[in-house]
Formats: sequence, structure tokens, C-alpha cells
Amino acid sequence: MPEAGLFSALGTTPTGLSSEDAQRRLAIHGPNALPAARPQSPIIRFLRQFHSALIYFLLAGGVAATLLGHLVDAAVILAVVLVNATVGFIQEGKAEQALNSIRDLIAPHALALRDGVRTQVGVRDLVPGDIVLLEAGDRVPADMRLVRARGLLVDEAALTGESVAAEKHEGTVVSDAPLGDRTNMTFSGTLVAAGQGTGVVVETGIGTEIGRISKLLQSVEELTTPLLRQIEHFARHFTAVVLVAAVLLFAFAVLVRGFAWDEALIFIVALAVGVIPEGLPAVITITLAIGVRRMAARNAVIRKLPAVETLGATSVICSDKTGTLTRNEMTAWQLILPAHRLLVGGAGYAPEGEIIAQGADDDAAALDAAMTMLRCGLLCNDAHLRESAGHWMVDGDPMEGALVALAMKAGLEPTEVRAEWPRIDEIPFDAAHRFMASLHRSPTGEMVVFVKGAPEALFAMAKPPIDLEYWNARIDEAAGEGERLLAFGALRKPAGLQRLSFEDVAEIELLGLIGFIDPPRPEAVDAIAQCRSAGIDVKMITGDHAATALAIGRQLGIADDPRAVTGAQIEDLSDGELADLVRDVSVFARTSPEHKLRIVRALQSDGAIVAMTGDGVNDAPSLKQADVGTAMGRKGTEAAKEAAQMVLLDDNFASIVNAVHEGRTVYDNIRKVTAWTIPTNGGEALIVILAIFAGFALPMTATQILWVNLILGATLGLALAFEPSEPGVMRRPPRKSNAPLLSPFLLWRVVLVSLLFAGMALGVFFLTLGQGRDIEVARTMVVNMVIVGEIFYLFNVRYLHVGSITWRGMLGTPVVLAAIAAVVAGQLAFTYLPVMNEIFGSRPLTLADGALIIGIGVALFFVLEMEKRLMRRLGWFEELTE
Ligand code: ATP
Repeated sequence: MPEAGLFSALGTTPTGLSSEDAQRRLAIHGPNALPAARPQSPIIRFLRQFHSALIYFLLAGGVAATLLGHLVDAAVILAVVLVNATVGFIQEGKAEQALNSIRDLIAPHALALRDGVRTQVGVRDLVPGDIVLLEAGDRVPADMRLVRARGLLVDEAALTGESVAAEKHEGTVVSDAPLGDRTNMTFSGTLVAAGQGTGVVVETGIGTEIGRISKLLQSVEELTTPLLRQIEHFARHFTAVVLVAAVLLFAFAVLVRGFAWDEALIFIVALAVGVIPEGLPAVITITLAIGVRRMAARNAVIRKLPAVETLGATSVICSDKTGTLTRNEMTAWQLILPAHRLLVGGAGYAPEGEIIAQGADDDAAALDAAMTMLRCGLLCNDAHLRESAGHWMVDGDPMEGALVALAMKAGLEPTEVRAEWPRIDEIPFDAAHRFMASLHRSPTGEMVVFVKGAPEALFAMAKPPIDLEYWNARIDEAAGEGERLLAFGALRKPAGLQRLSFEDVAEIELLGLIGFIDPPRPEAVDAIAQCRSAGIDVKMITGDHAATALAIGRQLGIADDPRAVTGAQIEDLSDGELADLVRDVSVFARTSPEHKLRIVRALQSDGAIVAMTGDGVNDAPSLKQADVGTAMGRKGTEAAKEAAQMVLLDDNFASIVNAVHEGRTVYDNIRKVTAWTIPTNGGEALIVILAIFAGFALPMTATQILWVNLILGATLGLALAFEPSEPGVMRRPPRKSNAPLLSPFLLWRVVLVSLLFAGMALGVFFLTLGQGRDIEVARTMVVNMVIVGEIFYLFNVRYLHVGSITWRGMLGTPVVLAAIAAVVAGQLAFTYLPVMNEIFGSRPLTLADGALIIGIGVALFFVLEMEKRLMRRLGWFEELTE
């Protein structure tokens, strides 16, 4: 056979390499990967933290302070800049690390023959000589010489720019053919659009064609999302406004109030530093990164950062059925023949269980009649069963695995039967035509085609007459119970037929049906109930039969509406009619990937934010169209994963719902960080502006304002990024996708809290002065009041949707407590350490002073809690209403 020569010429055998040989070759050839772009050096990354208009402004302020001889202020400004840059640097590093580490979770794999068995091998570990099996949706992992190709179409646009998929064959071509004409080769990085093939790896890594072109792996993703951009945009505008206001205030202070210009300048600089939320974007980045990590821990790997935000706003989840909502652990349950019915015993893939005829039928006669169908099920089949430690598992499609188990229960020995009936050619299964056919040489030398597929597909090919009424009645009975049905057919062919085409299966003999059970995942039932309370619609979009889909939908609690709409019906609808229909119908059956795309669009035209699952190569367009395209990590193709924003490691519907839960938490935390940061800055500013306008002594010095900013920036606000979910996150409706981050309630809070802060600070200021104490003491009181107020306000903000007065609310989290401990320690030093008194002009306070400040803080907390309740009762703000 010429192939044998080909294998040895390529340094391998038809059964692939041994693991040791592969190891050895890996050591010689190196990993099958392009060298990654060198990460930016830490020094450059650190310096980049200084590249912002705000930091330039701060540094200018620092220089001005130095020139004016205010060395302490200059030093504190420098400390603010350094602390911010360091925090930003560390956070950015952590965020990147979090994203990189989860990327490894979905590193691509290929199916190769190692030690004679099909093995999942990491693409990085492929070596020249490996035999790799390709199928639709795979990204070709290395440059390969094809030794077998069946309907293989490969999209080589990445390499040749040619958008029409190229047909591939195993034959020989002239040795100097240009790339596009080398039809017996597939090249690394191209995408299998249809069919199946087997190839021998000839080049890996930078030796491949794509390696020669690009040399580097360009996968550096920007750490940004729409929300983050919105905030950066806001921060820039806010900074501009603050700068203009600062100039005006400066003019007013010097010209009207008669401040010395250098004093006023330092003061205004400090104020601007205090007001501008320079740390906000960094804190939000870390909030997103924490969300990504929490989602990964719950089996949802985020590929594109913006999905973290979008998940929280998801209002519809469209899920396929098999494997996502059901377990995808198939068991053949019954055989339906023209004149017999048999029930199958046993569970799982273990080949143990009896097959008994129904009614008064004779078991042996009925089983005899079923033999051709059972053989068809075993031969028109690519799955293998494997036993390990008493547990039977499938390599390949679970339904095909169930057919192997069934054949074994009937006494057929898979390896023997497959050897006696060698497969000559096949038409692989494709969701578009919904059947698979294989051509075999029988032990007597005859050629036979076996076909298995969706009943409708086989009925359409069946040689008349078939008793449609009988078959449809059986299908309705079985599918109504949630059984999944497959039909089987066979046909004799003239000797010598070597290639199978669609015409060859135009007229087949229908052998019968097999019903399978695939129980719903128990956790999916809970997850769907959660979606209901969270105001999220669940739609099942499946390739399965309408009655099966509806029955499973009912078991899962999805199908309130007793209709299932089929792909054929969708084709008859206009986009407008479809948009009306998708609102109410929750089960879509016998759909193809094009229908999925139309359904997503129809839902989106109605304002929905749609998460959509998919696994096949043809699902890529709908995954891209969906707001959160979700690919299956296990059974999904590379094409689907690459198009998706999120990949589920366990293919489980419940993981999508968990990701939505985390997405909502992330968004809540971003709001909390913002809700805490802005009014606290606002309060500080208000105190000082009032003093300048009203013309009384300044309640805080420039240095003290800088101190407050320094100590709070990296502690309390950051703690909010780590907040766990609020109780009831999944009991409220999804947020509107166009809702502004600063909602009316938050804007109202900004105003209210700023006023309360100013009131408290000025209150203690005048009270202390009124007791005849020094202005330094009064200022120390103000600084402590502001900080203590911030701490108590933090506890209010931790729960925006429910009351904070609970055990859980009061105890805080370790992160919150650590942040508070740091702030308190800093504040004690500020108040009591002589050197700090020297630098910041502070003075030690008495125990009574401390008690007063804490008392006011507690009062602030209760006032804001009452306000939350009052606002909820008044129902002014939508987000507070349950
Ligand atoms: P879902 O879309 O929820 O995953 P599904 O697995 O039924 O459900 P498809 O994979 O599109 O969806 O399959 C559609 C139909 O094609 C199935 O209902 C079945 O009748 C038939 N089918 C599925 N797998 C095979 C196969 N390996 N060989 C032959 N026919 C198959």
C-alpha cells in the first residue's frame, strides 16, 4: 500500500507515535507554539502609571510646592503619586495574571494517535510525526500532510487571504505547487470548515507556514471594557472641570479674600488632588479582575473582559439542550421495528442489561429482527467504549457510545463486527443534514450502506412504501416522554463502490428507530428556577425533535408556553414576526445554526441582552452576534471557542447562571466603589470651599487634605472591590443595559453625603473652637471626623440594595477589616506621634474627643440607613424597589 511508504517517509506509523518517541521529539523540536510577544518590562509598566494628565498636574503641583519652600507638601504630593502608581502597578499586574492564568484553562487541544489510541494532546505538545484527527470546527494545530480526507473543507483565509474554503484530498500534488494548490496539506492556524480528515504533522511551531509569516504570537489583550472607558472618560472630564474650578477659586481667594498667593496656590493644588478620583479606574480594573477569577472558579472562563459587565445585564439565556441542560449520558431505552418493540435494561454505558420484547412477542424472534439495525448502529458509528476501574466511558459521541453498549447487550462484539465489516467510506454527521452514512464491505463481499440520523431525515430517504402513520405515532409516544429518537436504514450497493455520495443514500430501506434517554441535569432545574426569580428568560434552542424538546423543557421548568417552534416554521416568518414570537416561546426545535442567529437578532431587536450557547463551527456567527457568546469547553469546537466571549469548562447550564450571578456582583461592586469614592471627595471639597467663601479659618490645611487622600486612596475604596454578593442578587431583575453607572440614586447620594460630611466636619470644627481650644486641635478633629465618617459610610455602601444592619453587614469581611485597621493605625499615628504632629500640624486628642467623633460616625451610619429605608418606601428610585 503506498500509504505505508508515506508513513515511513514522514517518520511515523499508521498507529501514530509512542509516548516516549513523542517526548523525545518534543525535546528536539521544541513546543508547537510561536514565541509569545515579550511582555512589557516591569519598569516600563511602572513608568506607564505616571502617564496621565492628572499625575502631570500633581507633579507640577509638587514642583510648585518645592519652589515655594513647602517641602512637606511637596513630599506628601510625591507620596500620593508614588502610592497611586504602586497600587495601580500591582493591581494591573494582578489583573493580567488573573486573565493569563485562566487562559491556560482553555488552551487548545488536538486529537492525536499516541500509542495507537486517540488521545487529547495539548497543541503545544504536538511533534512532527504525530497523526492528528481533524473535524469540522478544529483549528489545524500544525502543518500536516493529509493521509485521509472526507469532504474536508478548510478555510485558509488566515494564510492565503482566500475566503472560499479550500477542498482537501489525500492524493499527491506536484512538489512545487503554490500554497493555495497544495490540496493534500493543511496548514497550522487554518480552520476546518467541514468534513473530517487525518494528517501527519510535518512542521510545528515557527517551522510552519504561519510561523514563517508572523514569528510572534500576538495575543496581548487590552485590559479595558466599555464601562472602564466610560469611567476614564468621566474622570478626564471631571479633572478638567476641577482644574477650571480650582483656577477660579484661586483667583477668588487671592483677589477677594486676600490670601497670600503662594499659600492659596498650595492650598488649591491640595484641594484638586483631594477631589479628583485618580484611583478609581485602577480600583475598577481590579474589581473586574476579581470577577474574572471568581467566574473561573465556577467553571466560566471569560475570554473577553467586557463580558464580565455584560453578564450582569443579561436578560435572556439561550441554551442548547443536549449536554448543557441534559447530562449527555445517553442510554438506549427502546427499539421500535416495523413489527416489534423491545425494551432495553441497564443504565450508563456498561454493556449489561437485558433486551426484552414487549407484550406477547417472543424475545428471541424480536431480537433477531432487530439484529440488522443493531449492526447498523455499531458500524455507522465512530465511538469506542472503554472500561476503567469498573466504570464504562465513551470516547466520542455519547449517543454513539450508547449504541455500542446496546450492541454489546445484544451479544455483538464491537471489535469483531467492525473488523468483519470494514468501512470503505462515509458521509460524516452534520447538523445541517442530520444523518451519517457509512459504506462497508460485508463478510460475504457485498457492499452495504448504513445510515443513521434524525427520523425525518431518514423518512425522506426511505424507499416507499413506509407506514408513516405507524412511525409518527411511535415517535409522538416516545418523544412525548422526552426520549431522543434516531432512525436507522440500510441499502445494498453494487460491488466495487469505493466512494459514498449523497445520491447513494437517496433510497434506503428503513430499519427502525431507537429511543434514548438523556436525563435533565438536576442542577439545571435549580439554575432555571434562579433565572426566573432573577427576571431572566431561558430559551432552549435545540437540534432535537420538537416533542422531545418540549418534554425535556417541561421537566426542567422552562416550557410554560406549550408551543415548540421548529426551524422550518422560523423560515416562514419575517424578522418582525419572529421578534414577536420569541418573546413568549421558550422551546425551539430542529433548528440549525442559521436559525440561532435569527433568534438572537430577534431578541436583541426587542432590547434583550442575550447570552447564547454553541459548540459547532456553524455556531460561530450566532456566538459573535450574542451579547455573551458562550462556548462549551468540552464538546465545543475551537471555532466556537474563539468566537465566544465565555467558555464553560463543564458545559453546564448552571455555570452560565453562576457567571451571571458573579457578573451582577461585579457591577454592584463597581457601583459601590464609585458611590463611596465620589461623595467622600465631594465632602472634603465642600468643607474647604465653604471656608473660603464664608471667609472663616480653613478647617484643614493643604498638607492635611493630602494626608486624607493618601491614606484613603489605597485602602478603603479598594476593599469594596472584594465585596461578596449582596443577599438577593438573583432575586432582582437584570439591570437595564443602558442604565448609567451614576444612577439617579447615586447622584442623590453624592449630594446628600457631601452635605452630611461638610456638616459633621464643620460641626466638630466650630464646637472645638468654641471650647476655646487651639485651631490645630480643631483641625485634627476635622481630619479624624472625615476619616471616621468615611469608615462608617463604607458600611452603608456595602449594601446598596438591602439594609446594612445585619450581623453579616456589621462584621465586615477580612479585607474590609484589614483596610480599616490600616486606616485606624495611620490615624492614630497622625494624631499622637510627635513627628507626625510636627509634619502635619496635628495635635493629640482626648478620649472624649474620640468618643464624640465615633458617636457622630455612628449617627451618620444610622441616618443613611434610615434614608435608604425611606427612599425605598417612597419608591423614588427604581433600583431600590424590589
Ligand atoms: P442540541 O442542539 O440541543 O445539542 P442535538 O444534539 O439533538 O441537540 P444536533 O447535534 O444538531 O442537536 O443533532 C440534530 C439531530 O441529528 C439529532 O436530534 C439526531 O436526530 C441527529 N444526530 C445527532 N447526532 C447524530 C449522529 N452522530 N449521527 C446521526 N445522527 C445524529
